[in-house]
Amino acid sequence: MHYDAIIIGGSFAGLSAAIYLARARRSVLVIDAGKPRNRFAAQSHGFFAQDGSSPAAMITTARKQVGAYPTVTIMDSVAGDAWKEDDRLMVALEDGAVHSSDRLLLAFGVSDVLPEIAGLAERWGQSVIHCPYCHGYEFSERQLGVLQLSPVSQHQALLISEWGPTTFFLNGGAGPDDAVLEQFQKRGITIESRSIEALVGPGADLSHVQLSDGATLALDALFIGPQQYLTSAIAEQIGCKLNEGPFGPSIAVDDMKMTSVPGVYAAGDITKGGGHTVTFASADGVMAGLAIHRSLAFGAF
Ligand SMILES: Cc1cc2nc3c(=O)[nH]c(=O)nc-3n(C[C@H](O)[C@H](O)[C@H](O)COP(=O)(O)OP(=O)(O)OC[C@H]3O[C@@H](n4cnc5c(N)ncnc54)[C@H](O)[C@@H]3O)c2cc1C
Repeated sequence: MHYDAIIIGGSFAGLSAAIYLARARRSVLVIDAGKPRNRFAAQSHGFFAQDGSSPAAMITTARKQVGAYPTVTIMDSVAGDAWKEDDRLMVALEDGAVHSSDRLLLAFGVSDVLPEIAGLAERWGQSVIHCPYCHGYEFSERQLGVLQLSPVSQHQALLISEWGPTTFFLNGGAGPDDAVLEQFQKRGITIESRSIEALVGPGADLSHVQLSDGATLALDALFIGPQQYLTSAIAEQIGCKLNEGPFGPSIAVDDMKMTSVPGVYAAGDITKGGGHTVTFASADGVMAGLAIHRSLAFGAF
C-alpha cells in the first residue's frame, strides 16, 4: 500500500512525528518492533507532566491517541529493508510485505552494548544506569560508582559526584591525568584500580561489587556510558550519511531533520551523539513531522 509517509519506529520520536502528520490529515504507516530503549527502566523521569511514569504506559497512551486518527496505521512489525524506486521510498517488512511512501522517517533508536560483567545486564535501567538526570536523584547521597568505558567516563565521574560520594573504577584502563586528578580530589572522587568481577544485591538492586582480589565494596548504583549502535541497518542501506561520536554512529540530519538522502528524515536518539532523552526525541519527532508535512504540501524536500 502507498502512504504519504512511513515511519520506522513507533516510540517517543516516531509517534510524536506521526501525530503531527495525522493532524495534517496525511496518511501514515508506523512500523514498530516494540523495543524502546528505556524498556529496562520501571520509571521515566524528567519529561514534562510525566515524571515517574512507566515508559510502557507512556507509549501505550501515545499509540492509542495516534492510532485513533483515521489516516494512521500502526503495525507491530520489523522493517527489514528500505530503498528508493523512482520517486517512491519502499520499505520491506520482515514478513516480505512491501509498502511505499513519498517520505520516510527513520526513528528506530539505538541499542546499548553493555559491558560483560556478571550481574550487570540484569540490573540495567535499575541500579546500573547511564543518565544522572533520568535516574540519579533516586540514588542521592548513596554510594555511587562510575565504570571507565571510554575517555568520556572521567567527565561522567565528575558529573555524577554532584549526586553523591563517587568511586571511579578504572576497569583495566589508564588513570586520569594530573589535571583531571586534581578535579577528582576537589570533588572527593576515589579511584579503584581493582576490576569489578560481579555486581551483587537482591533482585535488580545493588548492594556491593565483588572485586578481582575477592574483596567487596559497598555500592548502590553503577553508572556506565556504553557504546551504542543504530538498531536497524536501514540508514546505511538507503545511503544516509553517518557521523561518528565517542559512543558510536548517529545519522546526520539538517535543521529540518532531513538526512543526506532527499525525502528521508530521521529523529530521536539515532540523530544525536549524546544527550539522549525522551524530551529531545519527542521534540525531534515534532520537528520531523512538521518538516515532512511542509515538504509534502509545497513539493520540495
Ligand atoms: C535504561 C534507560 C533509561 C532511560 N531513562 C530515561 C528517563 O528516565 N528519561 C528520559 O528522558 N530518557 C530516558 N532514557 C532515554 C530514552 O530511552 C531515549 O532517549 C528514547 O527512548 C529515545 O526515543 P526514540 O524514539 O528515539 O527511540 P526508542 O525509544 O529506542 O524507540 C525506537 C523504536 O523503534 C523500534 N525499531 C527498531 N528497529 C526497528 C525496525 N527495523 N522496524 C520497526 N521498528 C523498529 C524499536 O523497537 C523501538 O520501539 C533512558 C534510556 C535508557 C537506556
